[in-house]
Amino acid sequence: MLASQPADPFATLSPSQIAILLTPVSCDPPPASPKASRLHDHGLTSKSVACDECGKIVTLNRCAKSHVWRQGRSCNERMCKACAARIRNERLYKLSPVIEVLSAARDPLLPRTFTFLSLYSPVPCDRQHISEWSASLSRRFRKLAAGSPHRIYIHLSGYIGDNLVTYVLYWGTEHSPDTFRRAFPDAMVHATCRENDQIGAYFEDLLRYTIPHDTVRQADVEFAFHGLRQYKVLGTALEDEIAAASERLFTMHENPIVNNLTTTDPGDPDAPKKRPCRCPRCGLPPVETTGPIPYAMILDPKHPPPWHKVNRTG
Ligand SMILES: [Zn+2]
Ligand SMILES: [Zn+2]
Repeated sequence: MLASQPADPFATLSPSQIAILLTPVSCDPPPASPKASRLHDHGLTSKSVACDECGKIVTLNRCAKSHVWRQGRSCNERMCKACAARIRNERLYKLSPVIEVLSAARDPLLPRTFTFLSLYSPVPCDRQHISEWSASLSRRFRKLAAGSPHRIYIHLSGYIGDNLVTYVLYWGTEHSPDTFRRAFPDAMVHATCRENDQIGAYFEDLLRYTIPHDTVRQADVEFAFHGLRQYKVLGTALEDEIAAASERLFTMHENPIVNNLTTTDPGDPDAPKKRPCRCPRCGLPPVETTGPIPYAMILDPKHPPPWHKVNRTG
């Protein structure tokens, strides 16, 4: 009879308890800054939260030798003034084997020079147009380098005003600036030809991003590049030499600065992967850590940070 019917789940609850149960749970606090708000409007919810936490939330770590260091929450976006320099240094570090091998290339059969190109194109700030532009660049560079195994490096850098600006380091058979202007009739092309040993300095320029002053515009550029690879390498010259240089450069360090760098999945150069954070003074991993706490709290001596044990080192 009635026993087979499910009991009313609200039968024993007061009206106010029911009201609480029926109130939708808000997942995230509403974004505070105009940039976070804009990212939220674009549907990039987690980027919006990360943007608001960047530089404001920290975790404190303590190693077995009682050194304390802080690890800030970062949004890891290249359109963030606080994060851009670090992202650039990490990329420069990852590309250092390529730079080392190309800048020391002495084989007379290999190119003695490279061309550094800035391509300015009036491409609207949206994903569709950026990915079409990127694909057409790759096609045209493959054509320029047809039959040559040399390495070409392309970087989609971002916007200056209304122009999409792409910096390219072209390491191939020498080409006159006119060759590039003919290859890219829809872009304004600036070309500089230099000797191989200057490649390092130009790689640094290649990875220097122009960040708009307007934070809402920063959010729009982030959205435009969201999910797109921001740089790519074409060509396979000197692969063995570059692999050997990587082996030597990346395995010899027990340097904590190096160990703290994020690594990248080779399949997707824009997907950062976190490595465990190590003490910047002794290189040991943390034995205690706080949860995420507001930056303001660690400046207040009345509230010592809540420490949690994380692991034990031998
Ligand atoms: Zn940031
Ligand atoms: Zn330490």
